[in-house]
Amino acid sequence: MTALPDKTPTQLFIGGEWRDGSDGTFDVLDPSTGELVAAVANAGPDDMAAAITAAADAQPDWAARPPRERGEVLRKAWQLMIERAEDLAFLMSLEMGKSLTDSRGEVTYAAEFFRWYSEEAVRVGGELRMSPTGANHILTFKKPFGVALLLTPWNFPAAMATRKLGPALAAGCSVVLKPAEDTPLTALVLGQILTEAGAPAGVVNVVTAEKPGDLVAQALADDRVRKLSFTGSTGVGSLLLKQAAERVVDSSMELGGNDPFLVLDDADLDAAVEGAMLAKMRNGGQACTAANRFLVAESVADEFGAKLAAKMAELTVGPGTSEDTNLGPMVNAKQRDGIADKVARSVAAGAKAVLGGVSDDRPGFFYPATVLTDVPRDSAVAVEEVFGPVAPIITVRDDDDALAVANSSEMGLTGYVYTRDLARGLRVCEQLQVGMVGLNRGLVSDPAAPFGGVKQSGLGREGGFEGIEEYLETTYVATNW
Ligand code: NAD
Repeated sequence: MTALPDKTPTQLFIGGEWRDGSDGTFDVLDPSTGELVAAVANAGPDDMAAAITAAADAQPDWAARPPRERGEVLRKAWQLMIERAEDLAFLMSLEMGKSLTDSRGEVTYAAEFFRWYSEEAVRVGGELRMSPTGANHILTFKKPFGVALLLTPWNFPAAMATRKLGPALAAGCSVVLKPAEDTPLTALVLGQILTEAGAPAGVVNVVTAEKPGDLVAQALADDRVRKLSFTGSTGVGSLLLKQAAERVVDSSMELGGNDPFLVLDDADLDAAVEGAMLAKMRNGGQACTAANRFLVAESVADEFGAKLAAKMAELTVGPGTSEDTNLGPMVNAKQRDGIADKVARSVAAGAKAVLGGVSDDRPGFFYPATVLTDVPRDSAVAVEEVFGPVAPIITVRDDDDALAVANSSEMGLTGYVYTRDLARGLRVCEQLQVGMVGLNRGLVSDPAAPFGGVKQSGLGREGGFEGIEEYLETTYVATNW
């Protein structure tokens, strides 16, 4: 069993105190071996109720503090994350499996949400307008929702949490954060860091649970919870929207993707392969922004496929915590088996595996880098989110054909376009039904940019100027003077 970094908490964090869960503990495994990393507190209904009470009690005072003071807490939390970057990176690689390079990148990215929102905390504004009738003024101001329930996935254990914590705290909300059961440790450390940075008791609560369904339903039924922010699969997001509808809880949703990566016939293929490696292989392909369908012009498809397969073959597979590793394990056996199943069904439907395609038998939950060519447009890897290191290549006749395939999905998170012709690229970007596009770039995530999807990929935006608005509501006063 690999030792956890010093002082890694494993208990619930409620009302400024660490405490055991009323339902015992659950195991967090090292995905590179399947061995135990830690036994983490398993919350029960009383714990969730206590967390909501703590958050509700602390929220009015937090919201009443000067915005600069809330900003300073976030700024300090950014600093502490950077100081502890190595421990945090190691912890994420241990509980989630991603390479240390990916984890270090995530710490910087995640911390930046605290810094960005420390700056936005002091920029929440209102408006003054004249009514068109001239009879009165229209004065608007913004207020935090109150208690926010934050639910995060396992694939970015730090960044998906800070992308919510930063704006929620800046706005004056208090929070109950419930991280994914595969990766609860990083979230607990974030609770520790925010407290050390000065967040008062009860403003940040972290509740970990092995089977969260009932606890989340309980929280959404509690009339002190006014905001839900969820990142995860479209299936669970849709279920939670139905639950939130009962009490009309305002909901932000960052959901699944099936992201198209378009290589037009005039693209710089070396640049496209470099971008593809980032867009596909960051996090071992376990990213909502991961390129899921490579839509490549017929005239360049063979060359692009060969170059991409050569690059993917160079990756060193191993535990995320080893410095040599470029491709770690998948997070758990279920994810790995799901990927293997989608690849097998696609190969049976006619796709050719030019690299990988078969699970290896090493211990842990590994799946090899895989490139599939001649992928039928209706095969599993083309229509379902794969969430792993699998690059399916679908050939397309022209830009219109590429757009038709890209937009045939019910998902609309990220798209990528490679072309040497900027005007042509922008035309294609405009027609893609997605929330974000990388134009000659394999990475779109940026704390200063509005992150989010269209169609079934989500509701609302995180990051940028937009992110804080998700935690604020508007009051308007009609007045004269
Ligand atoms: P998931 O939907 O299984 O879980 C997400 C969160 O919901 C976890 O905290 C989990 O414990 C909780 N949860 C699961 N079932 C629940 C239920 N019945 N009731 C209440 N809560 C429940 O997703 P995942 O497997 O952790 O993450 C992968 C998915 O997340 C992918 O689809 C990916 O595309 C998506 N994702 C989206 C974004 C984005 O910003 N759009 C970012 C990262 C991941």
